Amino acid sequence: MTRSTDDVLAELAALRAQDPPTHGGRVLAYVYDSGRADLDALAEQAATAFLPVNGLDPTTFRSVAALESSLVGRARTLFHGGDDVVGSVTSGGTESCVLAVKAARELWRAADPARATARAAIVLPTTAHPAFHKAAQYLDLDVVAVPVSVATGAVAASDVLAALDGLGDRAALAVVSAPSYPFGVIDPIADVAAGAAARGVACHVDACIGGWVLPWWGGVEPWDFAVPGVTSLSADLHKYGYAPKGASVVLHRGRERHAAQYFATTAWPGYPVVNPTMLGSRAAGAMAAAWAVGEALGDEGYAELVARTRAAASTLADAVAGISGLRVVGSPTGPLLALADDGGVDPFHLVDALRRRGWLAQCQPAMTQPDGTVLPRTAHLTLTAVTGSVVAELADALAASADEVRGRSAPAPDPGLVARVLSDGLPEDLAEVMATLEAMPGDVVRPALIQVLQAAIDPAVG
Ligand SMILES: *Cc1c(COP(=O)(O)O)cnc(C)c1O
Repeated sequence: MTRSTDDVLAELAALRAQDPPTHGGRVLAYVYDSGRADLDALAEQAATAFLPVNGLDPTTFRSVAALESSLVGRARTLFHGGDDVVGSVTSGGTESCVLAVKAARELWRAADPARATARAAIVLPTTAHPAFHKAAQYLDLDVVAVPVSVATGAVAASDVLAALDGLGDRAALAVVSAPSYPFGVIDPIADVAAGAAARGVACHVDACIGGWVLPWWGGVEPWDFAVPGVTSLSADLHKYGYAPKGASVVLHRGRERHAAQYFATTAWPGYPVVNPTMLGSRAAGAMAAAWAVGEALGDEGYAELVARTRAAASTLADAVAGISGLRVVGSPTGPLLALADDGGVDPFHLVDALRRRGWLAQCQPAMTQPDGTVLPRTAHLTLTAVTGSVVAELADALAASADEVRGRSAPAPDPGLVARVLSDGLPEDLAEVMATLEAMPGDVVRPALIQVLQAAIDPAVG
């Protein structure tokens, strides 16, 4: 059965109409809106121009090699890397982080023949992005998670270094964030990087979310390749680079470390294979869009967008300070805020109340750390440049939502909920679902989460 293009496009438009608005600042996670329609139009045209090419082979599609080289060059200048810093454009932050872990593992192994059969380990704060746990699972490494302060969400460098010492020879990589996603806090990068270097261990700075913010934020301690001992860095173009999804950068200090990220083989009768990233065929649309947006914005453009973002973050933090029963966790550097109960406002109920008012924040469940301390459940807000144009409305919505739920007891876990979600789908209000997930042991919750998400795309369901 064939269909007319009008018919097909109408169906796509109808599907998109069900999504939350990606523009306008009402969705406070997942999407990054510059608030500039001209940039969106430019990104669209750039992506369209590069839709048909394949980044698999930069010797065939020279255009892709030129764009990638330009983006890597731009990133290394921004992040204070010298001529010895090189890297790749990847499909996103997760791929950048996985490749940084791969490179660290390969160099760790190459340093000593006895390690060919040993298992490497990485050390990270509990606030590090799950991409590193994923990398460890895919690449067969152990993870040592270091507790952060319950009050501030910050890790102590001495705790990270003690964990490296505890691993001895098996430590291949220390990970720090600039900033961390859950609480928006920058880790003590200089101290961790120096301590790691003294132990011969690599140090990765995960600036996936902060990479295109911190250079213009102001008042930030050195956090990038300006810091000795930092060996690799990830920064997402598809977040505050304001590019469409599918573009990130991973940089390494040293061509040897970058080479360790590659895969090459001639063990088949086809073409000689050289893959810098995890993908084979590589889409170049997002790369072209990221390049175009970066050229159009330039340093000044980013500075202006960050100034607007920073003003919005400060207005909002002040607003929260005036709302009884709610507090911002720690003192974040950058555009991420985590809101915790400060005597009366449950963050999960708050997220539901905000959603009813047309605002989408993210529930972050409480987490018991390896030392038994418990990080609070929070509501996460990612602010972007466009937030500035709606910040008064957002502050009002927060205050009204807090008023609505203040004093309401925290949602209780419901053991029957997973089965109900699997048969009926997710309810509108998520507080109970989140409270249930939060209370379930990890080895029970993980398969349950997978089942729920599997069901969402199962052709036999719904
Ligand atoms: C978003 C993010 C990542 C992973 O990026 P994806 O693009 O979602 O794969 C890694 N680290 C941090 C701190 C992030 O915010």
